[in-house]
Amino acid sequence: MNEIVQFIRGKEEEMVEMLKAIVEHETPSDHKELTDTLGSWIAEQFTRLTSGKTEIIPNDRYGNHIRAEWGEGEEQLLFLAHFDTVWPEGTIKEKPFRIEDGKAYGPGVFDMKGGIVQGLFAVHALQTLGKKLNKKVVFLFNSDEELGSPTSQTLIEEEAAKSTQVFVLEPAMSTEGALKTSRKGVGIFQMEVKGRPAHAGIDPEKGVSAIGEIANQISYLHSLTDLSIGTTVNVGTVSGGTTSNVIAATAVAEIDLRVKVKDEFDRVIPLIENLEPRDGRTHLSVKGGINRPPLERTKEVQSMFQKAKALAKQYLDIDLKEKETGGGSDGNFSARLAPTLDGLGAVGDGAHANHEHLIVREMTVRSALVALLLMEFGNEC
Ligand SMILES: [Zn+2]
Repeated sequence: MNEIVQFIRGKEEEMVEMLKAIVEHETPSDHKELTDTLGSWIAEQFTRLTSGKTEIIPNDRYGNHIRAEWGEGEEQLLFLAHFDTVWPEGTIKEKPFRIEDGKAYGPGVFDMKGGIVQGLFAVHALQTLGKKLNKKVVFLFNSDEELGSPTSQTLIEEEAAKSTQVFVLEPAMSTEGALKTSRKGVGIFQMEVKGRPAHAGIDPEKGVSAIGEIANQISYLHSLTDLSIGTTVNVGTVSGGTTSNVIAATAVAEIDLRVKVKDEFDRVIPLIENLEPRDGRTHLSVKGGINRPPLERTKEVQSMFQKAKALAKQYLDIDLKEKETGGGSDGNFSARLAPTLDGLGAVGDGAHANHEHLIVREMTVRSALVALLLMEFGNEC
C-alpha cells in the first residue's frame, strides 16, 4: 500500500498539468460540441494512463457519455464523475486557470474536474505498479449532471445495479475535506394559480388575484419545513401579473423540497400535490415530483466510510471526517442500488461560485485515498 502512496505523491506535477488541460476544455452542460470534445479527450487519457478500454455512449441531446473499464472480474466497482460544469462558454477568458498560494483556480476545477484527474491517477498507479483486483473497475463520465442528469440517470442506475460499491468523485465538503455520507433527496414542483383579471381602480370587486392566492399558499408551504428532521420547503421563485393596475390573472411559484429520508417524501409530497385554493374562485394546480432520491447514511455507507477513515489514518496520516449535505449528486441515484460513498474528489471550496478552487497538495493525497479504496474493496469477496 505504501508504494502506491509513494507513487502517487510523485505525480503532482503531471496531475496539475492534466488539471490545466481539462479545465481549459470548457464544458457547459448544454454545449454538445464542447462536451463531446472533452469526453473523447478523457477517454483517450483513460486509455493512456490505465491501458483500459473505453466506450463512447452517443447522446443526441447533450454531450456523449463515456464508459471506461479497467481490470477484470465478475463483480465491479463503479466510479461516477461528471465532466460538465455550470460555467458558460468563454468563462475561461475571464477566469483563466491559475495557481496562487497553493490553490488552483478555473471554471469547474473543484466541481469536479479535479476529481476526474485524481481518479484517473489512482487507477494509473495500480496499473503501473502491476496491482490486480478481483473486480473490474468501471468509470462513468457523464456530461449532464449539472442539469440533473436527464440523459445519464438510466445509465448510472444500470451500472450501479451491477456494482458492489459506488464511489463518487464529487468535491469533498469544503476545505475540511470531509466525505459525504448523506445527501438530501430533492423534489421540484411548480404551482400555477389562475385568478380573474380586472382593473384595479375601476372594478376591483370583479377581480380575483392569483398573486394573493399564491402569497397565502407560500406561508403554508414554508411552514412545512422541519429542520429537526432535515426537511425543507422553499418557494424559490414567484412570478405573475402584468402591470400594477391590473388584478393578477395568473401567478406561478417554483418549489424546492429537500428530505433526508425517503419517508419524508411520502409524507410531504401529498401535502404539496393536494394543495387546495384558499379562495375558491381561483384555480390551483401543481406539477412536478421527485428529482433525486436521498442518499441515506445506511449501515453499508457507514461501514464504507469507516474503512476509508482507517485507510486514511494508516497510510496518509489524515483524520478523515464525514458530513451530510443538502445538495444532490449522481450518488443520490446510485445509492438506491448500491452502497455509495460520495465526496471523494477535490478538496477546496466554492463550487458554482466565483472563488471556486482546489488545494493542489491535496490532489495526490485524495488520489492515493481512491487507490487505497480500490485495493480494499476490489479485493474483498
Ligand atoms: Zn458536481
